[in-house]
Amino acid sequence: MENEILIDLMVQLAGLEAERHRCLAAMDRDARAADLLEGLQAEYASDADTAAGRLQAARLEQRRVDKDLAELERVLERKRGLLARSRDPRETSALQREIAGLETRQDTLLAEACRLLEQVEEQDRAARDVDAEALEQERRAVARQAEIAEEHARLASALPEIEAEILRLKAMVPPAVGRHLQRLWDRQMLASVYENDGSCSACGSRLTPQKALSVQHGRELVKCPACARFVVHKPWH
Ligand SMILES: [Zn+2]
Repeated sequence: MENEILIDLMVQLAGLEAERHRCLAAMDRDARAADLLEGLQAEYASDADTAAGRLQAARLEQRRVDKDLAELERVLERKRGLLARSRDPRETSALQREIAGLETRQDTLLAEACRLLEQVEEQDRAARDVDAEALEQERRAVARQAEIAEEHARLASALPEIEAEILRLKAMVPPAVGRHLQRLWDRQMLASVYENDGSCSACGSRLTPQKALSVQHGRELVKCPACARFVVHKPWH
């Protein structure tokens, strides 16, 4: 096979390999972005659960104090009635002490009820904020996931064509070149890459000036001295 034809094939191959690499990298990036979105959604859902749990706990506490308070008020009323009817000075003073004690307890419970009311209102606001955020996040995530799925489908359908074209070109090059390509591919490496300013664009190693010229003029098929990839010129047109 004439060098010129071989090099032309290798230039096409380098372009296809670069495209395949870009495709795979984009699919990998998309997969990671989708994972991240899922993780984020789980986080928001867990925050919403936590906020709802706090609100429920505050409401339970509020109901408990309200019940205690109602019960205490019934007792107080009963004691006040007894006091009004009491004719025995000892009983009267005992009832007065008892009522004073209950009134102190009532003040404490009222203060607690106020505090709990504020707490419930605050937890309710917090829970609604978290819910709204989770909903907004979900809306964004659904839109982004649709974009990712669309891109994934586009890349996944482009890939087989690129692969087929790569294999078609590989079948056309001399067997020794084909074997070397396969060895590099087996190691998940790009096998043919463009020359860039006298260097291998994959590993950055400099070619000798003579080799660089040969590559640039498409005279000779050159391997990078460092990474053994085929180094070819960029397409001329
Ligand atoms: Zn190299």
